[in-house]
Amino acid sequence: MQGRVIKSTGSWYLVKTESGLVKSRLRGKFKQDNLKLTNPIAVGDYVTVAKEEGQPTWTIDEILPRENYIIRKSTRKSHFSHIIASNIDQAFLIVTLKNPRTSLGFIDRFLVSTESFRIPATIIVNKMDLEYKGKDLEYLQDIHEIYEYLGYDVLEISALGEYDLKDQFLPLLRGKTTLLSGHSGVGKSTLLNKIIPEADQFTQEISKFSSKGVHTTTFAEMFDIDGGYLIDTPGIKEFGILDVSDYELSHYFPEMRKYLGQCKYNNCRHINEPGCVVLEKLEEGHIHPYRYDSYINILNEEDDHR
Ligand code: GDP
Ligand code: ZN
Repeated sequence: MQGRVIKSTGSWYLVKTESGLVKSRLRGKFKQDNLKLTNPIAVGDYVTVAKEEGQPTWTIDEILPRENYIIRKSTRKSHFSHIIASNIDQAFLIVTLKNPRTSLGFIDRFLVSTESFRIPATIIVNKMDLEYKGKDLEYLQDIHEIYEYLGYDVLEISALGEYDLKDQFLPLLRGKTTLLSGHSGVGKSTLLNKIIPEADQFTQEISKFSSKGVHTTTFAEMFDIDGGYLIDTPGIKEFGILDVSDYELSHYFPEMRKYLGQCKYNNCRHINEPGCVVLEKLEEGHIHPYRYDSYINILNEEDDHR
């Protein structure tokens, strides 16, 4: 029987199948792709499960090929990764203009990460019920300008106040698997509480499987919503970026990817190389200086500080 992993504790997995939720364990060892993963199965995985004759528990026999996945990894070049979730249709990054302000650098790291995982991303500006003026308002304009120019949607919402989430936000989730992300304080829990009905049967059903008092570490949670799934990653500040060499990093910046192959040198890192088209475009104003700063910052990250 096929199903989808909707909760993972590391020792057992909750799999949603056509005949309900089943608690499953892994049988034996699992073959991995050549990624060095510290866990074999994650939330979002499609699997096949079987029940052994006379046994109360189910086993996961096979993982179906993943469309994509996100991993956690301390740096770009670290060799071990933890797979957090898979088969994601879209990623929403919740940001705020103040209390606390989400930095452009943080947004850019997130976008490089989703670009590398091939997941379409949207920026959601929360707390729009607050009044903004001066620098904060300019910041909002910057966010719209910089990211919409690159093709990312920028949306304004409020998890509190009068904003109509039902009409503005919920339709975006329908029928899709959506990853919700954002650093602490942006209102992610408030938003989740508001859009996931309190008596969410699915969530209640899940909690039946978790024994009280036993602490289980989860890296991602999946909620059933409006014919789709919402993936929350509590406690995870940043995602990793798939292994990329220096000269490949610009492939994850859409405005630089455009000029792929046009620099004089094939392995141009766009720092100070002669005949660099990216530097030329930066000079001409086609590439935003903030974005270029982010590019250099990510490029300069220490190779490994696990
Ligand atoms: P999380 O760390 O991202 O889960 O953030 P929380 O949901 O705990 O929210 C952090 C703070 O921001 C709380 O005091 C919330 O009440 C507040 N907050 C969340 N959403 C909004 C919003 O849309 N507008 C305003 N004004 N405050 C909000
Ligand atoms: Zn170049």
